[in-house]
Amino acid sequence: MSLGNSFKDKIYRCEDCDMKYLISACLANLPVRYDGKGYYFEKISELLQNQQAITVCPEILGGLATPRLAAEIVNGTAQDVLNGIAQVIDSQGNDVTQAFIDGAQKALEIAKKYQVSIVVLKENSPSCGSNFIYDGTFSGTKISGLGITASLLRQHGFQVISEDDFLKSLD
Ligand code: SF4
Repeated sequence: MSLGNSFKDKIYRCEDCDMKYLISACLANLPVRYDGKGYYFEKISELLQNQQAITVCPEILGGLATPRLAAEIVNGTAQDVLNGIAQVIDSQGNDVTQAFIDGAQKALEIAKKYQVSIVVLKENSPSCGSNFIYDGTFSGTKISGLGITASLLRQHGFQVISEDDFLKSLD
């Protein structure tokens, strides 16, 4: 996906503007993933050092612990989860839907509070995926789709992109 020059221009203008990014906390190398790990990206680290980014982990905001069992959306889409007709189930079959919805709502509150301009979320996550998620079978199969937080933020007008698209846009 190409984000076009207008997106790049916004990023490069950030040194003298008040643009803020909301970023998945695991992309800032915080150990919040289900397996207790995070990811290091130099460009994201720079944004944080320059106080241009705020991090959130919707699953932690929703009350889940780290480490925790992997979870996937079953019986529908993220929108279906938000509408109460699909669920999020962990790898042992526990229903963790409410924690995912609570976390998405808290992430939305933070995005609104700080009036963020761009939301960069971790691809493939049942909360944060913005292009792909796992298919609900715990078989490692990815499908096109959104995570619950990504879906809710887009519904409210926020520009949500994956870390891959964000980092490519800086090249
Ligand atoms: Fe938290 Fe989202 Fe990262 Fe999962 S992908 S660990 S919910 S920030």
